[in-house]
Amino acid sequence: MIPFNRPAIVGDEFAYVEEALRSRALAGDGTFGRRSEALLERTLGVQRALLTTSCTHALEMCALLLDVGPGDEVIVPSFTFVSTINAFALRGARPVFLDIRPDTLTLDERALEERISPRTRAIVVVHYAGVGCEMGVISEVSNRRGVPVVEDNAHGLFGAYRGKPLGTFGALAAQSFHETKNFSCGEGGAVLVNDARFVDRAEILREKGTDRSRFFRGQVDKYTWVDLGSSWVLSDVLAALLLAQLEARERIQAGRRAVWERYQAELADWALANGVLLPTVPPDRQQAFHMFQLRFPDLARRSAFIDHMLARGVKAVFHYQPLHLSPMGRRSGARPGDCPVTERVSDQLVRLPFYTELGGDEQGRVIDAVRAF
Ligand SMILES: *Cc1c(COP(=O)(O)O)cnc(C)c1O
Repeated sequence: MIPFNRPAIVGDEFAYVEEALRSRALAGDGTFGRRSEALLERTLGVQRALLTTSCTHALEMCALLLDVGPGDEVIVPSFTFVSTINAFALRGARPVFLDIRPDTLTLDERALEERISPRTRAIVVVHYAGVGCEMGVISEVSNRRGVPVVEDNAHGLFGAYRGKPLGTFGALAAQSFHETKNFSCGEGGAVLVNDARFVDRAEILREKGTDRSRFFRGQVDKYTWVDLGSSWVLSDVLAALLLAQLEARERIQAGRRAVWERYQAELADWALANGVLLPTVPPDRQQAFHMFQLRFPDLARRSAFIDHMLARGVKAVFHYQPLHLSPMGRRSGARPGDCPVTERVSDQLVRLPFYTELGGDEQGRVIDAVRAF
């Protein structure tokens, strides 16, 4: 069976994790954590990167940093993972669901401004499949209306929009290092802070609402409870695993790029002949090679395709179901028809096996199976 995902191990993980264990410093905010954060800060050009226990927790930190509360609204695509909005719903905010563009499947920026109200506290964008949203328009609307952008950049690390790295557009951005992402330590994440005003408070929230970080830097002589917060620091053992992956970023991304480009080249004719759409990547986006998705004309053919692939030993899977039609989404007043592209695409889309070390005969078997449909 060819799995849908298999986390990459690049080599240095073993030595780094051993070093972390031997050092007997297992808690967070240690040497490997700092090195991972410095690497992210340097390569992306962000003010501060803070490793967290997950992207979900990174988004919860963003909601706290923006003081989102009951009665507030947060604009979010319906076509995303539940954490994108749950982090804000936890603070009492109401989701305002936006549809996606039919080409890139990212937030439809043309529908953004009319959904902003005096209660809107954040615009949360998702760079779906690692292809950047139309950030030129979104940033312009955000600046003019004074509503900050939060990027859920779980798919987009090391991708860019017009040469500027994804994760550097919003006041804040969230990364995921879950096993299913390009770079992984099993479970993990990061908050990227682009607006310097949030740096000190982000450190405090992540350290259970204490000024522990300042204490260890010698800036205060004892540490104490100064704000809300929780336990969101990533263990240094996991940070060691992550650092090995981040240091191998060029190799990992080159591997994923080869897989993506082979799918595109070898499935183009088949897709055209069968009315199937391949991913769209506008020329001004440098994508992050997170996934390769197909879009079938309808649900019946999508389901038949998944069965066909399974019968040939290949796991192909569908993706997000519209959040505005979920039981929680409906409680916020959303109705069928609110996001027609999302509703259509969620029935049509299927993801092919996609991982860094896919290639050679294995990928050849997936491609043969697709073409036999
Ligand atoms: C994976 C993912 C998350 C959640 O990441 P965790 O690190 O598992 O919390 C959030 N948003 C998107 C778009 C994701 O793909």
